[in-house]
Amino acid sequence: MIAENDATPAEIADPVRMIIDEDACIGGGVCEMLEEATFLLDDDTVIAAIVGDGLLARERAEIVVDRCPGRALSFVEIGSGLEAGTEGRSPGEGDED
Ligand code: SF4
Repeated sequence: MIAENDATPAEIADPVRMIIDEDACIGGGVCEMLEEATFLLDDDTVIAAIVGDGLLARERAEIVVDRCPGRALSFVEIGSGLEAGTEGRSPGEGDED
C-alpha cells in the first residue's frame, strides 16, 4: 500500500493538498493521530506541520479538518494555483477559452 504522503495526485482518489494555519494551531495532535503519514506535531513548539506534499483523499481531508479543535486546517484543490510548490496545472484544468 502507498502511504498518502508518498503518493502522487493520480494515485489518490479525489486528492486535495492540506494547509495548516500555524497561528491557529493549538497543539494536541488530533491531526497526527488521524493521519500520521500527513501530519507531525513538533515536540518543541507543539505545533503541527505537514509531512511531505500533504496530499490526502478529499473524504479523509474533510474528516481531519472537521476534527481540528483549533480550526487550523484547510485544503486546496490540486491544480488550483493556490498550492505551495505547485509545478503546474493538470492538463485540461483552467482551460476556459
Ligand atoms: S488538530 Fe488542529 S489544532 Fe490540533 S495539532 Fe492538528 S492542526 Fe493543530
